[in-house]
Amino acid sequence: MLFRFKGLVLSENPWGESDRILTVLTADAGKIPVLLKGGASLKNKSASACIPFCYSEFVTADRGGRPWVREASESESFVSIRKDLELTSTALYICDIADDVCVENSDESEMLQLVLNTLYALDRGLRDRQEIKAAFELRTAAVCGFSPDLVRCSVCGRGQSEIMYLDVMDGVMQCSECRRRQNALPLREGHNMLLFQLERPLLDVMRYVCYADAKKFLSFELPEIYRERFYTYCEKYLLNHLEKNFRTLDFLHSLKALPQIRSENTDTQNKGSG
Ligand SMILES: [Zn+2]
Repeated sequence: MLFRFKGLVLSENPWGESDRILTVLTADAGKIPVLLKGGASLKNKSASACIPFCYSEFVTADRGGRPWVREASESESFVSIRKDLELTSTALYICDIADDVCVENSDESEMLQLVLNTLYALDRGLRDRQEIKAAFELRTAAVCGFSPDLVRCSVCGRGQSEIMYLDVMDGVMQCSECRRRQNALPLREGHNMLLFQLERPLLDVMRYVCYADAKKFLSFELPEIYRERFYTYCEKYLLNHLEKNFRTLDFLHSLKALPQIRSENTDTQNKGSG
C-alpha cells in the first residue's frame, strides 16, 4: 500500500550502511520517520527532495512496518537559503527546534505553518535574519502553549507602566510599582529570578509577535536600540522553557565570532607589513 503526503524534512541521519532516516513534519500526522533507500548515494533521484528544510511531496511504501520513500519531489524550494552559511545554519536551528517541540501522530499544522513562513522569510530576505530568528523563537513559545502573558501585570492587573518586567521562568509580567514592592521581599525558595526589562516599544513588538495573525507575525517595526535585547530575550525565553541547548544554535553563535577573527588577522597582517 502506498501513502502520499506533503512534509518538511527536519533532519536526515545515516541508517545502516547506505540508507538514511528522515524526520518529516506533516500538518495532520506530526513528525513521521521515513527511510530512504541509498539516500547517501547521488544516484537516488529522490535524494535532492529529502534533505533538511525541503518541503516535499512523498510517496512511501510500507516495508517491515516502516515507511520507505518510493518517490519524493520538492514542492517548495528554499534555494537562496542554501547559498549562505548563516542562513543555512539559522534554517537548521529552526528545524531543530521544530523537531524538539513537535510529536508524532498529532496535529502540528500550526507549527508546520510557522516553520514554513519563517523559512520563506529567510529565503526571500524579507527582513534581517536575526529578527526572523527571534520572532520565530517567541512565536514558537506561543504556539506550544507557554507564551509569556504580555497582556497585564500579574499582580495589580495594570496593562501598562513605563517599564514592565517579564519574569521568564513564570512567564508573567509585573509593572514597575509592583516590581519595586516585590524587590523588598526575599525570593521564593528554589525560584531563580530571570527578569527582562520591557520598555513600551519592545513590549509592543513582543505582544505583536505572540498575538498577531499567523501569516503576519513578522510584520512589525522595532527601533534599532531595542534589537539586540529583542534577539537575546526571545532566544533566552524559548531555551529556558525548553530546558535544552541546541548544537545548531551553538554553531550559529560560533559564526558570529568569525568576522571578528578575520578582521583581527587582517589587522595583524597590516601591522606586520607596515
Ligand atoms: Zn502591578
